Amino acid sequence: METSRRLPGFARVVVIGGGVTGISTAYHLAAAGVTDVVLVERGALGSGSTGRAAGGVRTQFSDRANIEMAVRSLNTYRQFGERFGQDIDLRQTGYLFLLDSAATVSAFERNVALQNELGLPSRMISVAEAKRLTPLIDTDGLVAAAYSPTDGYCTPESVVLGFAGAARRHGARLLTHCAATGIDINADRIVGVRTEGGRIETDTVICAAGAWSRQIGEWTSTELAVTPLRRQLLVTEPMADLPPDLPFTIDFGTSFYLRNEGAGLLLGASDLGETPGYHLGPTEDWLSQISHAVQHRAPRLAESGVAHHWAGLYEMTPDHNALIGEADGPSRFLYAGGFSGHGFMMAPAVGEIMRDLFLGRPPFIDVSQFHARRFQHAAPHPELNIV
Ligand SMILES: Cc1cc2nc3c(=O)[nH]c(=O)nc-3n(C[C@H](O)[C@H](O)[C@H](O)COP(=O)(O)OP(=O)(O)OC[C@H]3O[C@@H](n4cnc5c(N)ncnc54)[C@H](O)[C@@H]3O)c2cc1C
Repeated sequence: METSRRLPGFARVVVIGGGVTGISTAYHLAAAGVTDVVLVERGALGSGSTGRAAGGVRTQFSDRANIEMAVRSLNTYRQFGERFGQDIDLRQTGYLFLLDSAATVSAFERNVALQNELGLPSRMISVAEAKRLTPLIDTDGLVAAAYSPTDGYCTPESVVLGFAGAARRHGARLLTHCAATGIDINADRIVGVRTEGGRIETDTVICAAGAWSRQIGEWTSTELAVTPLRRQLLVTEPMADLPPDLPFTIDFGTSFYLRNEGAGLLLGASDLGETPGYHLGPTEDWLSQISHAVQHRAPRLAESGVAHHWAGLYEMTPDHNALIGEADGPSRFLYAGGFSGHGFMMAPAVGEIMRDLFLGRPPFIDVSQFHARRFQHAAPHPELNIV
């Protein structure tokens, strides 16, 4: 990895944050011919939330723009090996939402209708069909399910490698172990970024700092309403006789989910007692909560051992929608963050959008609904399909 010892004195644009969002953005800028693109990452590339994600890529959202970004990203992930020379282990085994109330079924029926309007093959299915797709589940209390066969999952570390290599081949500088420490502003214009390794003169900053975005926003007096919230995952020991092509299966009522991971399973769930903050240690409390969820929804897994258990941060916004846009001032401060736990699956499309915002041309969708100022007046329009 390139380090801050070779800090350039000047950049046309400085991207702060070397997770999947920042690296995709740096790649798309450099590939479009923007010179002197510099990304600064305070740790290693992908060492924030990206490297801790479950890798799920799904298109089943409730909001049109979220569906469109997810579809665009899934298309890039499908072509990733060819375009970037990096295998990302994409497995399109589908995403299956298990539903246990009439209210959630109605909401998912509306979502599926919108997804179908946008060309997606998602559909409502019976509990019996859900059980055929994921035989590990106990169907007690379920009333229906929603399924999209083209969704799936892939490996975040491989995506980071693929985008980073391509960004560098196009001339972008990705500097690791180089934290940004401030932004210099003169007469409402950005004039530089301060880092641990020195100062970079620039007139444009793109904040892609994930759960840490709020602090970067404060340097420019831009309110980026992002709150960190710990989420935990585990991978089981290898298990005999596991179906190899399980869909990414989510028990929507409890948020418990599972998918194949090597010869075992990856299991996740939210923690009902979690409080906002930069808490990164995995907890025994969560292990006990997830074992209850397993007993309830997938009792066959109750005896499986835990091989790995880790925690990462969701980057929550008040309406669970991303913050994507350019600040009203100072000039020019752009941001992409607050994906509320769904940024990996959006990153390829978001990189394209950030490129277009930087170049002053219209992105493939109107992103005005994601502007950071929306919380000042508009009634919230929340994304409902968040787990
Ligand atoms: C347990 C878990 C499971 C998840 N599962 C999924 C999933 O299945 N699918 C999905 O789409 N999403 C998932 N997510 C969410 C996903 O990980 C994030 O939405 C996504 O990684 C956000 O990427 P990012 O690049 O915006 O942020 P990050 O990957 O967090 O990158 C931000 C980077 O900014 C750096 N940074 C911060 N401050 C500074 C500074 N001052 N100077 C320099 N660098 C700085 C950080 O070190 C970090 O590397 C999951 C998250 C968790 C925690």
